[in-house]
Amino acid sequence: MRLSWNDLGKPRADKANGKRVEITGFALGANLWGGNDRFLLMAEPGCCQGCVPNNPLAVVEVLARQQMKPANGTLKLRGTWHVSSEAGGWRYQLHDAEAVKGVTRRMLMAASPLFCLPVPAMAQATDGMAVDLHSHAGNLLQTSFGRGASSPVAEPMRQGGMSVISLAVVSDSPIIKLTDGRLRPSRDPRPGELYAFSQRSFPALHALAREQGMPIVRTSADLRAARAGQPSLIVASEGADFLEGRIERLDEAYERWALRHLQLTHYRPNELGDIQTEPAVHDGLTTFGAEVIRRCNTMGIVVDVAHGTFELVKKAAAVTTRPLVLSHTSLTTRPAAWTRRILPDHAKAIAATGGVIGIWPVSSYFPNIVAYATDGFARMVDIVGVDHVGLGTDQLGLVGASAMPSYADLPQLAAALRTRFNADETAKLLGGNFRRVFEASVR
Ligand SMILES: [Zn+2]
Ligand SMILES: [Zn+2]
Repeated sequence: MRLSWNDLGKPRADKANGKRVEITGFALGANLWGGNDRFLLMAEPGCCQGCVPNNPLAVVEVLARQQMKPANGTLKLRGTWHVSSEAGGWRYQLHDAEAVKGVTRRMLMAASPLFCLPVPAMAQATDGMAVDLHSHAGNLLQTSFGRGASSPVAEPMRQGGMSVISLAVVSDSPIIKLTDGRLRPSRDPRPGELYAFSQRSFPALHALAREQGMPIVRTSADLRAARAGQPSLIVASEGADFLEGRIERLDEAYERWALRHLQLTHYRPNELGDIQTEPAVHDGLTTFGAEVIRRCNTMGIVVDVAHGTFELVKKAAAVTTRPLVLSHTSLTTRPAAWTRRILPDHAKAIAATGGVIGIWPVSSYFPNIVAYATDGFARMVDIVGVDHVGLGTDQLGLVGASAMPSYADLPQLAAALRTRFNADETAKLLGGNFRRVFEASVR
């Protein structure tokens, strides 16, 4: 079978494991890699001269049957395909490889997308301005309970070129449990319980910011100043359950904890409205939910309708005077029961407010970072346009695996997006769109 560079990172490349395949590319590093019978084959010519390419999806390690002298560096090879999960090794190898005659430049160009960029160039692709709309990085879900140690946040952000993350405490954590394969409320909270929990989780977030040396974004000017060289965070809450129906607690969280991003609901149908994963009881948004949105608009807090039902979103869109965020989801046209994914009309209701939808890297939907970019991001862009899509990793909050587990992976995401979008569009998707919404919402 013939493999193209577009197949790498996708099931077709994995299925070829152990089979004889043909692939065409550019040879690199015959001298560096111990002679002409062992070298790297790349998607693009010359782009990584003098550096070892970082993107494992743009490289095949070749173990040739005999010494080779590639003309102009170009080669069409036949060999046995090996897919390896070995840490530190190349993912793809071509064993017992031999040259196939007849490669033309035209064939080669048709075979190669723009995949291979050296690390510094890829980091530049994001302008160091990338923003994650939704994260629990640093092990915040555990440290909010006083359990476990924090994990690094600032360093992987610097490595990947991520400038700001919206870091969320989880308001209903004490009462939600994994039941029947999904998160559900296990009981009603006791009066005062979720407010009391917020008085532990917000300080845990602030402690993490101090420990990681990360400034907290309080104003639009702070956000404009944030760069990957000095990673920053926005204080967020996933669920407004800690309000317990009392609007004055929103002012308190704004002042005391610098809350600037509030997701109305989570896994419990709360005082604000209905959620996607439980039967509706409020017909969407409650009167209190509408009051909270208006107060957020006035004070300068981003309103996030992730986890809310389509009814909630439609009512929130009618109430808000600022763009809405839906920070972590993805598109579906055939929704499963109790899915967190959204239909095209649900997505369009967010875009109509001028808002942004964060794409969620759930690996059962997107098995790798290329699928996350070219399926997750691109399909949503097809529905709502390139001005209304962003990145919502939910780092360390996913029940299963992530297609983007670390901020150090951001260059791979940027490179995969660049196969479908130009540099300006990629910058919008990776942070520009959220920055616009934040500046429209926060003073
Ligand atoms: Zn969530
Ligand atoms: Zn989350």
